[in-house]
Amino acid sequence: MMWVTIMLTAADEIFINRRKLLALVVGIICVLVSIIAYQFSLSVENEKLHAKVESAGIQQRVKFQTSVSRTIELLNTVGSFIAQSEQLDRTAYASFTRPIIRSHPELWAIHWVPLVSDDERQAFEQQLVSDGFDGMTTLDVATNTVSSAPAKKLYYPILYSEPLERSHISVGFDTYSRQVNADVIDALLAGDQEYLGTAPFQLFEGASDILSLSYYRPVYDESSVGRGRLKGFVLAVIQPQMILNTLSSTDSDLVMKLYDVTPTGLVEVAATASSQTEAATVSYRSEFNILGRNWLLEVWDDRLQTENSLNISQWILIVGFLFSLCLVLMLLWLAKTHRQILLERDRAQSYLDTVETIMLMLDREGHIQMINRKGSEVLGASADDLLGESWFNQRTLVNSQQERQIFETLFDREHPVNDLYRGESRVRTSDGQIRLIAWRNRLSFDASGRPVGVLCSGVDITEQRQAELLDNLRSRAMEATLQGESLEYVLSLVVEGIEQKNPGALCSILLLDEQGQHLINCAASSLPKGYQAAIDGIEIGEGVGSCGTAVYRRERVIVTDIASDPLWADYKALALEHGLHSCWSEPIFGRKKRLIGTFAIYHGFISKPSHADLELIESVAAFVSLIIEQFQAEAALLSMANSDELTGLNNRRKLFSVLETEFERAKRYGHPFSLCMLDLDFFKKINDQYGHDIGDKVLQAVADTINHVLRENDVCGRIGGEEFAILLPDTALTSAAAFAERVRQAVGELALKLDDGRLVTLTCSIGVAEYSEIFHKASELLSCADQRLYYAKAHGRNCISTQTDYEGCSR
Ligand code: GH3
Ligand code: MG
Ligand code: MG
Repeated sequence: MMWVTIMLTAADEIFINRRKLLALVVGIICVLVSIIAYQFSLSVENEKLHAKVESAGIQQRVKFQTSVSRTIELLNTVGSFIAQSEQLDRTAYASFTRPIIRSHPELWAIHWVPLVSDDERQAFEQQLVSDGFDGMTTLDVATNTVSSAPAKKLYYPILYSEPLERSHISVGFDTYSRQVNADVIDALLAGDQEYLGTAPFQLFEGASDILSLSYYRPVYDESSVGRGRLKGFVLAVIQPQMILNTLSSTDSDLVMKLYDVTPTGLVEVAATASSQTEAATVSYRSEFNILGRNWLLEVWDDRLQTENSLNISQWILIVGFLFSLCLVLMLLWLAKTHRQILLERDRAQSYLDTVETIMLMLDREGHIQMINRKGSEVLGASADDLLGESWFNQRTLVNSQQERQIFETLFDREHPVNDLYRGESRVRTSDGQIRLIAWRNRLSFDASGRPVGVLCSGVDITEQRQAELLDNLRSRAMEATLQGESLEYVLSLVVEGIEQKNPGALCSILLLDEQGQHLINCAASSLPKGYQAAIDGIEIGEGVGSCGTAVYRRERVIVTDIASDPLWADYKALALEHGLHSCWSEPIFGRKKRLIGTFAIYHGFISKPSHADLELIESVAAFVSLIIEQFQAEAALLSMANSDELTGLNNRRKLFSVLETEFERAKRYGHPFSLCMLDLDFFKKINDQYGHDIGDKVLQAVADTINHVLRENDVCGRIGGEEFAILLPDTALTSAAAFAERVRQAVGELALKLDDGRLVTLTCSIGVAEYSEIFHKASELLSCADQRLYYAKAHGRNCISTQTDYEGCSR
């Protein structure tokens, strides 16, 4: 029991855990789906972002390049101006370049860097000093003045510089002394490029933190043929940072970074100040060439990178997670609720199983939806086997068709009401028993008030009903007996009563004959007539059906299937031919176990008796026995009062009574009848010779002899010691005389053999008289017959006489 409990608990746990697991799996699937949706949305957004950033990047790069190109163009005009100027002085230079610088903030300064040969150096320096520039004193003379570079004898010092106030310390500075400048100048001199720029560099300390570029544009003497002598370079200091600042001023969220592409990698040159992010996840990079160098511009949109608000993908992810969470919680709640429902259902089922009432739930089609323990017990099948089965089947209900019709009428009503419907069914159990069930049925409705089935509660009233039946039968039988009805009538009342309350049952009561060898049909009116005739007088014995065997064995014999039972092997054809398939037979015993007969119940189908049925046949047999014994006792008493003890013939009283009746009948209807008076001749002698006992035996032998000669309706009686009277109804004198003669001969032929071998013979004399209207009383007829007897005695004995000397007895 303990193990069963543990196993049930474990199964329960597995059940609930399985549902939890299911909820978890569903949750995980939802989360995965959310992540996939998030990823998909993200990639779509990324594509959009890429496209946006690319478009912005291309736009900015074009703007950047355009800006640089415009600047270079302006500087070219400066170069042309210098080339065409005969006498270039500081004032002219300043007035030409200042407007340009003012309108182009990216231009830090525009220098004029003339080519100074070694010969001209002194004059150049004096010129500078006379112009009042002291820059050379602050610059490193060794590297940054025109004082060195003896090998080339060439110097590229800054002569004019605008705006001067920004870069006056650069005046006199030999640009060639810086490697970045020397590389460009050398390249320009060697090649045929019109201009080139330097790598980014830091201006002199304190001038500006921003990396700058130098733009070199060579200026040649005007010449009619080809390129003239190199006069020097227009050197512009450009700050790309300023270009970026200008570009970003129109869209401050656009972030741009400019890199110098060097063989060792990218070197950041400038960047917009507005960047809030160190590095972009999505940016557009494009390489291009300006001032003879390769540059890379990286552009991204800060709005797209740093957007604080949630985008669609994030929403999808959050909503997906929340949905998954809700789903998991909901599934867990459902699992719990479902379990509670199951527990409630089990509890209700347990309750239903404790009651001793059959509880059934049928759907509209009559299929079993629920059945309790008692119901399963009565039907003898498990609830699992019964669920879903039709209730209205031949196997379960004896009257399934009628019951189904009644069931369907419950739903036929236009407005079915929630009333109780009562009824009774004869239910067949799996082992063939038939139980009587009293039902209380109630319709069950769905939410919309439509009847969807019937709830039935049934009580097994088989025993109760049979007890009532027995009481009823007893009182009816008693009443009939007291009213003087015949035994056959009383027993037929019993049989009919049982059959009425047990539809389908056919009863019989057979009585054992005096020899105890044959069964006589007493009450079996419902059995087919042909069958009744066939079994009437049947000899008892083993294998003589149920009744013959029951009497033979002196015990109850139950045959549920006549077709297959060996006890019916010789009689099954007869029974089956009359539609009889089962027969339960109970022997009827009288006092001191005297066998009286059998009480049997037949069915037209294979049928096994229930306990109640067995009790019924036992009880019926018992009280039928009382009835029969009562009748038999009464008959015995009656017979004792009317018969002669020695011969068994009617006694004097009975014979005279019959004579009175017959006399009255003849007097009323004129029927003839005759009376014979018989007296044994010299009987005294027999007594004297052989003894009184032998005399008695002779008297018995004479009685038997007369009985043999008698017809069915003739009545014989011993009216005196050795005197007999024989009443012959419907017999005239002649026939009566012939009869008397036959009797006289038969008695005369009688020879009683004694134990010692002697034979006792005798004769008799008979007087015969016929009824006539002359007789007023029966005693007169009797007297007449007596007179004729004495006439016969007087005329030699051993003869009959139909005449007499008696006056009143003329015939
Ligand atoms: P008969 O009639 O021919 O004139 O002569 P009987 O000898 O038969 O004379 P009667 O009829 O008068 O005698 C009757 C005798 O029958 C007297 C009696 O001994 C005898 N008897 C009467 N009743 C019984 C009886 O019950 N048993 C025996 N054994 N004898 C009986
Ligand atoms: Mg006599
Ligand atoms: Mg006599």
